[in-house]
Amino acid sequence: MKSKVFYTDFRFSSKDNVFSKLDLLLKGVDLKSKIKKNNLIAIKLHFGERGNTAYLRPIFLRKIVDKVKEYQAKPFLTDTSTLYVGSRADAVSHLVTAVENGFAHVVVGAPLIIADGIRGDTAKEILINQPLLNKVSIAAEICNADLIIGVAHFKGHDLSGFGGALKNLGMGCASRKGKLVQHSTISPRIEESLCIGCGECQSFCAFGAIILANKQARIDSENCRGCGGCIAVCPQNAVKVQWNEDSATFQKKMVEYAYGALKGKEKKSVFLNFVMQVSPACDCCEYSDLSIVEDVGILASNDPVAIDQASVDLVNLQPGNPNSTLKSGLGKGEDKFRGVYPQIDWEVQLRHGEEIGLGDRRYDLIKV
Ligand code: SF4
Ligand code: SF4
Repeated sequence: MKSKVFYTDFRFSSKDNVFSKLDLLLKGVDLKSKIKKNNLIAIKLHFGERGNTAYLRPIFLRKIVDKVKEYQAKPFLTDTSTLYVGSRADAVSHLVTAVENGFAHVVVGAPLIIADGIRGDTAKEILINQPLLNKVSIAAEICNADLIIGVAHFKGHDLSGFGGALKNLGMGCASRKGKLVQHSTISPRIEESLCIGCGECQSFCAFGAIILANKQARIDSENCRGCGGCIAVCPQNAVKVQWNEDSATFQKKMVEYAYGALKGKEKKSVFLNFVMQVSPACDCCEYSDLSIVEDVGILASNDPVAIDQASVDLVNLQPGNPNSTLKSGLGKGEDKFRGVYPQIDWEVQLRHGEEIGLGDRRYDLIKV
């Protein structure tokens, strides 16, 4: 059966505006019927890396928070810390960056909680028994929430072609260990020229996998459990992720992680994709390049596969921005994401999502 995807474009008049349309979208996905009094509601978004300006505007989140409160539940805004070392690599710097980017409690009307703890390792193992992964490591507060409202900025991504609802769930709800599993098949590596032998990584590693000799640290891959913690604790940024996973496998693992993040909440969660400022790269970048198409609209669905399929279809229907990084596919109906990343088959994430029963690629687009 086709899934319903509700949609508004960005044409407004004196009779309506983006917020009244957001109300209609939330009515379309029947948010009210999914929420019980005092439920703890995880509003999962990306707060944006420092320097990025394409992330979602806090006022949109405020409106979603207000709606949840109207139904007498308790919303919180949430994300997980990053695998790479940047301005969101632990909960403290992540919260500081989020506030700098405008997501203060006083603005958005709800507390901010980093779902995987201060060091990215507060997580639960969820059994999923999927083709690539039997279990996944999901941020604890995602597991503990009663339902998820996934709010994604839909844009390009260098490994998955685009990032939307599936990526917001799969990568965005994974612990650091889960992110490392998705990106790499091997242990991190220590860059000799950067290591000063301070021993911080060795003290941190709970598995005795770091050997220190002659003021140089080395990871013993036999004992490494791939938690990724040493990457964040090294003051020299000497511990490097080996980003060796191929795009197709990366996408499949990401989708299986999305399955794990949603487990037990499949019928209760809702997804919103803001297809605006469609930058070629992720909001994890510390810059935002020019949009590849004009702003498209906002989509809402109960199906994370259908909403991403509809979002990519709507983007591809637009004429490409000739001043952007888009190299090909500029015409209406042509593939914008392959136009930016010709080597990436973004359909893998949608196909795999459908194959494992996460959702349906067929949809009815309902304009509100
Ligand atoms: S924490 Fe970094 S600098 Fe210190 S020993 Fe480990 S790898 Fe070397
Ligand atoms: S990834 Fe985790 S287990 Fe492996 S060496 Fe680093 S801290 Fe130890």
